[in-house]
Amino acid sequence: MNYSGIKYADMINGKGIRVSLFVSGCTHCCKNCFNEETWKETYGNKFTEKEEDEIIEYFKKYGKTIRGLSLLGGDPTYPKNIKPLLKFIKKFKENLPDKDIWIWSGFTWEEILEDENRFSLIKECDILIDGKYIDNLKDLNLKWRGSSNQRVIDIKKSLEKNKIVEYI
Ligand code: SF4
Repeated sequence: MNYSGIKYADMINGKGIRVSLFVSGCTHCCKNCFNEETWKETYGNKFTEKEEDEIIEYFKKYGKTIRGLSLLGGDPTYPKNIKPLLKFIKKFKENLPDKDIWIWSGFTWEEILEDENRFSLIKECDILIDGKYIDNLKDLNLKWRGSSNQRVIDIKKSLEKNKIVEYI
């Protein structure tokens, strides 16, 4: 898996102060995508154990002030990203069990539920921002998403209640 960047102390992508990992690879081709270069799975650098450990060490150093990890892209649910992200999440949780994980996907909640592979990744996370970016639904007042079709979903509660529970 390749990644285009890691943003430390990110206050935009998710609640609180976070570490954001931007992975490469996306098939959605949304019009006016904010990060078009990341569509190519080969864009950026290889995400290796070195980067995994750097992120974990950063949390250990600044743990109290950093709330969690955000996974963006590209699309973290792009097929080739699922296995490496699952591996990283497992290690992340073993080291930092009290941190939350937010994930963005161009697929909707309903589409993810129908795809075993994508679901295996989503269910390890806490919050999902779902769906493609739709340019004519763009709304700059929205938090954590670009267009009004996208939802901020509490994954655990939604699975528990068997219906979408949006995160407030
Ligand atoms: S899903 Fe995200 S990265 Fe992919 S094309 Fe749409 S806006 Fe761009």
